[in-house]
Amino acid sequence: MDVQTLYDFTYTLIKSYDDAQDRADLIESISKALSLFFPIEEIKIFLMDEYSFLLKDFVKPWESLTQNSENIEIKKHFDNFLIQKSQYEIDKNILYFPIIQKHKTLGMVVIKSRDDIKEKNDFFKILPLVIAQISMLSATLKSNEQIKLSSKFHQTVRNIAKITETQYEMDYILPIMGEMIDGFIQEHLIYIFIKNKNKKEYKLIWPNKCSDNRIYEYLEEITPKSQTIIKQDGKMGIFPLSVDSKPYGAIVAYNHFDKITQKEIEYLEEIKNQAQITLSRAKSYIEVLEYATLDALTGYNNRHQFEKRLKEMQAIAKRQNQPLCCIMSDIDFFKKVNDTYGHAVGDCVLKNVAKIIKKELREEDVASRYGGEEFIFLLPQTNLEEATIVAQRLRKAVENKKINIEEYKIDGIKEISVTVSIGVSVFDKSDRDSQTLYKKADYALYEAKETGRNKVVVYQNKN
Ligand code: GH3
Ligand code: MG
Ligand code: MG
Repeated sequence: MDVQTLYDFTYTLIKSYDDAQDRADLIESISKALSLFFPIEEIKIFLMDEYSFLLKDFVKPWESLTQNSENIEIKKHFDNFLIQKSQYEIDKNILYFPIIQKHKTLGMVVIKSRDDIKEKNDFFKILPLVIAQISMLSATLKSNEQIKLSSKFHQTVRNIAKITETQYEMDYILPIMGEMIDGFIQEHLIYIFIKNKNKKEYKLIWPNKCSDNRIYEYLEEITPKSQTIIKQDGKMGIFPLSVDSKPYGAIVAYNHFDKITQKEIEYLEEIKNQAQITLSRAKSYIEVLEYATLDALTGYNNRHQFEKRLKEMQAIAKRQNQPLCCIMSDIDFFKKVNDTYGHAVGDCVLKNVAKIIKKELREEDVASRYGGEEFIFLLPQTNLEEATIVAQRLRKAVENKKINIEEYKIDGIKEISVTVSIGVSVFDKSDRDSQTLYKKADYALYEAKETGRNKVVVYQNKN
C-alpha cells in the first residue's frame, strides 16, 4: 500500500467527521473514504442499543430491523463478533467488521461491494486503523447527540414553564405544550388528554387525531394515586397529570417500533411535573384575569374584553346607522417560526406584529388578541371598501417590516420577517348574533389561507 493512499484515506475520514452534521452524513463520508478500496454499493452501520440490547440501524435507530434474510444474516455475523472476537468476516461481496471500543463490541459495519471482496486488498492491512477510527467517530457522534438531547430537554422544560408569560387560555396552552413535548421527543407520538369534569371521560386535546382506541381503555386505569403507566410491551408511556392534587388529564407517549427507554421516561416525568406547575399557575391566572382587560404580551384587549367591546360597538353602529367592519388576521406559518427559532422568538414576533399593525390603525379602532397569533380589529364608522384598504395596508406593513431578533443569538441571524393573512367583514343588522361579524371575517381568513396566504379576502354578504 502506498503512503499516499493511506494518507488520503485517513484525511478523508477525519475530515468527514468534522463535516458530518448528522448520522446519514457520517455514513456518506465514511463511504467516500472506503471507496478508495472497494467499488462500494452500500455501507451500513449498526449499533447496539444499550437499553434494549437490540441491534439498531445507525441512521434510523427508532426502527426495528425487519426479519428479512439480509438482517438475519447481519444479526448472525454480529453474534459471531460478540463470541469470537474475529477481526472481520467476508461473504462474497459483503464485508462485516465490528465496531469496538474499550474491548467492547458496540456494533458493526457492513460494506456491500459491487465485486467480490478479496482479502489481498490493501484495505485489510489498515483494517485495525479503520475500526478504531469508525468506532471513535460513531461513539463521539452519539455522545454529542446525547448532550444535545439533554440541552433540548432543559430548554423544553424551561419553555413549558414560560408559557403562562404569554398565554392564559387553556385552549391555547395545552396545544402549545403538546407541540413543545412533541418537538423534544420526536421518535414518539405525543398525545395530551384532558379529563372531562362531568362525564369523567378523557378527551383528546392535542393533536387533533388519535386513531388508537386502546389508549382510551388504558386511560380508564388511571386513579388519583397513579404514577407512570407503561403499556404495549413498553412502547407506550402514560403520564397522569394532576393539577392542584386533582386528576386533570394525561400525557401519552407512544412509539410503534420501540420500547421507551428509561431515560426518556425520566425526561417525560420531569416534563409532566413542569406541565402540572404551569397548568396550576394558568388556572389561578384565569381566576385573576377575569378582571383584566388587556393581553400581557401585546397590550391589545384580551378575548374577554373583545367580546364586551364587540357588543357595545354593534349597538352603537345599529343606533347611529353607521357601518362597522371587522378585520381578522393570522400570522402565516407561525408554527415554523417557533420550530426554527424557538418559542421566545415566536413571542417576540407576535409582540412586534401587534406593534406594527397598531401603528396603522386609528385611535378609535379596537385591537384585540383573539388567541394565539390571531388578532381582531373592529373599525367603527368604516365601510367595507375602506376596511379592505386598511387591511391591505396592514398586510403590507407586516410584510415589509424586518423584526430584529439579534438578542436571541441564533446563528448570527439579525432579523426575520413574517406575513399575515387577513379576512374582512362588515356588520349587517340582519346578522344572527353578535359573533356573526367576526365569524364572517374568520371565514374569509380561512379562504385567504387556502388560496395562498399573505393576502386579504373580503366576506361577501349573501343578500
Ligand atoms: P397558518 O399559515 O396556516 O396559519 O400556519 P401556522 O403555522 O401559523 O398555523 P396555526 O395558525 O394553526 O398555528 C398557530 C401556532 O401559533 C400554534 C402555536 O405554536 C403558536 N402560538 C400560539 N400562541 C402562541 C404564543 O403565545 N407564543 C408563541 N411563541 N407561539 C404561539
Ligand atoms: Mg392560527
Ligand atoms: Mg397562523
